[in-house]
Amino acid sequence: TGSVPSNIEIARGAKLLPIGEVARSMGIEREELIEPYGEGVGKIKLEAMEELGGRPRARYVLVSAITPTPLGEGKTTTTVGLGQAFSHIGRRATIAIRQASMGPAFGIKGGAAGGGYSQVVPMERLNLHLTGDLHAVTEAHNMLSAMLDNHLYQGNSLGIDPHSISWRRVMDVNDRSLRNIVIGLGGRVDGIPRQSGFDITAASEVMAILALCTSLEDLRERLGRIVVGVDKEGRPISAEDLKAAGAMAVILKEAVKPNLMQTLEGTPALVHAGPFGNIATGNSSVVADLIGIHCGDYLITEAGFGADMGAERFFNIKCRISGLKPDAAVVVSTVRALKAHSGRYQIKAGAPLPEELLKENPEDVLAGAENLKKQLENIKLHGVPAVVAINAFPTDHPSEHRAIEEVAREAGARAAVCHHFLKGGKGAVELAEALEETIEENEKEKRGGQSSSFRFLYPLEAPLKQKIETIATEVYGAQGVEYDQEAARQLEEYEKAGFGRLPVCIAKTHLSISSDPALKGAPRGWKLPVREVRASVGAGFIYPICGQMRTMPGLSAHPAAEGIDLDEAGNVVGLF
Ligand code: ADP
Ligand code: MG
Repeated sequence: TGSVPSNIEIARGAKLLPIGEVARSMGIEREELIEPYGEGVGKIKLEAMEELGGRPRARYVLVSAITPTPLGEGKTTTTVGLGQAFSHIGRRATIAIRQASMGPAFGIKGGAAGGGYSQVVPMERLNLHLTGDLHAVTEAHNMLSAMLDNHLYQGNSLGIDPHSISWRRVMDVNDRSLRNIVIGLGGRVDGIPRQSGFDITAASEVMAILALCTSLEDLRERLGRIVVGVDKEGRPISAEDLKAAGAMAVILKEAVKPNLMQTLEGTPALVHAGPFGNIATGNSSVVADLIGIHCGDYLITEAGFGADMGAERFFNIKCRISGLKPDAAVVVSTVRALKAHSGRYQIKAGAPLPEELLKENPEDVLAGAENLKKQLENIKLHGVPAVVAINAFPTDHPSEHRAIEEVAREAGARAAVCHHFLKGGKGAVELAEALEETIEENEKEKRGGQSSSFRFLYPLEAPLKQKIETIATEVYGAQGVEYDQEAARQLEEYEKAGFGRLPVCIAKTHLSISSDPALKGAPRGWKLPVREVRASVGAGFIYPICGQMRTMPGLSAHPAAEGIDLDEAGNVVGLF
């Protein structure tokens, strides 16, 4: 593939439409609704939600995936490619994706704007500062940290138990040496010493709030509900108690407006919020979707990781808050990941693929197919029809694509081989058509009573333990759940504090449907171990921790940052 230019070369060659023109193509005519932020980028005022509210609703499509390898299987690339493909069949689509965390861009993962001829541009801006939303989240989060520590210093009139404080600090750099620190060292005027640490900004509850709020007022209220610790009697202490939530909302008032960009083919792209996919929802913002849903025939959005993770949270947390009902889901599959699910290969980030894996071998694809089948089932559990996108790589063999098509057919789902990475939108036309046929067929069956509509997996009224068990057994295929003593105690406390009605966001590895990253395919006969339970009361979910969760990544021996620089003309080099 030596002839294919790099992602950054393709992105830099793009001819950008003025952002006002992109807005008009999605039906946002009134110029004042768009605030330009440099070439090809604008923010959409939240008034757009009301102004467009009376317009017809687009079909709402989720892009999810099989359980990925550490390389990622192409959800963002497929979201972009599919959005572009619709214009090739006379439909208008908008896409909605997350904003990248800057930390990983200088670490290892690569960009978050898609790839090849299916990218959102200007991609350097998407991957770097964009419009400063990540800084706003960082500052709002740290404002609360500072007010909390100042409260302790000024006499602690709320009686906060310093050992109970769970609110840390955040920054958008991978820095392992800040994971555990002691603050307040020095003299009497330098604060109260205590142990704390930094997480990456994407792991901040403020980021999850930005992603899940439905308006500026809702943002303000959610910020107030953040729980930072408890007092000596065990009562939760909130950001409202510390009188910090108003200032935080002020810091975030621009960040709450969705960013508008475009794909390489001029498809409107909403890029907004980027919460972590393990300890948080891993979905882009509700407000972006509430705008995008009135902007054409299709709104296509991506949820992080496999369907057991991002899609489950999309259905049961994000859609519950937005009130939007998905019409279909795309499950992105690759030959390499299904081969890895056979259990015969190890794929590592930053290392070349094993030679053996690149040889033609449809049997290995079939041996890993249990994962695809289970992820399709996870979509269907929510009453949503699924289509399989086979994201083609140059090293694939046609017989291997046929194998995936066969598995999809047996599972009752349409499948399409996609070449949008190399060909842009026209490479995903078959996928767009398969999706439209699936949605129309499903609508017909629903009218005839042969098919069910979108449904949540559990009611909010169910006790927290029951919600965890429903997800573990039905979505993850676990035999049951095992709670550490500490976790069981925390669950009881949360129920008592009145947080029992919140949905749950189970923090586990994304590299397996189970909680053990080494188990491939669709593991059965295991139990989900809940070590600890935490609460994001402001964002509005409880998150049980099942396994080692890193909330501050580290850098490798040779981070990508070593190769990133500016050339003589001031262009970025070495980024992706
Ligand atoms: P995800 O959103 O699922 O994490 P991405 O769309 O970001 O995945 O893709 C992961 C990486 O793989 C990106 O670097 C992207 O450029 C690359 N990629 C995706 N699809 C293809 C493809 N069909 N051929 C070659 N590279 C691809
Ligand atoms: Mg992605």
